[in-house]
Amino acid sequence: MTASADTRAIDALAVPSRGRYTIPTLTVRIRVHSAESRWGSGPFSPVVRPVVLDALCPQCGGLRGEPRNHRQHEDGVWFSVDIWSNPCGHTDTYAAVVEEAARREVVDLDCPVCEHIAPDGGETFGVRGSSRWAHVVLLDHMALHIARGLG
Ligand SMILES: [Zn+2]
Ligand SMILES: [Zn+2]
Repeated sequence: MTASADTRAIDALAVPSRGRYTIPTLTVRIRVHSAESRWGSGPFSPVVRPVVLDALCPQCGGLRGEPRNHRQHEDGVWFSVDIWSNPCGHTDTYAAVVEEAARREVVDLDCPVCEHIAPDGGETFGVRGSSRWAHVVLLDHMALHIARGLG
């Protein structure tokens, strides 16, 4: 992960400095080849399932494009999946999307600086989202404390 990716991620999101923030997600329908019967073992039956992805491009952290319906035809069978184009120009490959959906782990992180300086119940900052981006958002938030001199 590069510094520019982190900056773009934060730029694309309206992250408040207090309260709990949830990183936006995207639910898309993809074909699951691994769940389909193998060639020659029965009639072709495509399997399409919804998966949850981060709404952020994994390469640069910019917002992903809006999913749209895409009809496909294979072996006499029509089925629909979602496709999208990212405004940043990076392309999400099928293999990368399958892997991201399978590995995506949602975590809740709390800012240790907020908790330290507001022990009397003052509002703190926390973030919920995939571990990939939750850490980026928390680090960006903590940089605000450092800029203010921690107090
Ligand atoms: Zn991108
Ligand atoms: Zn904080």
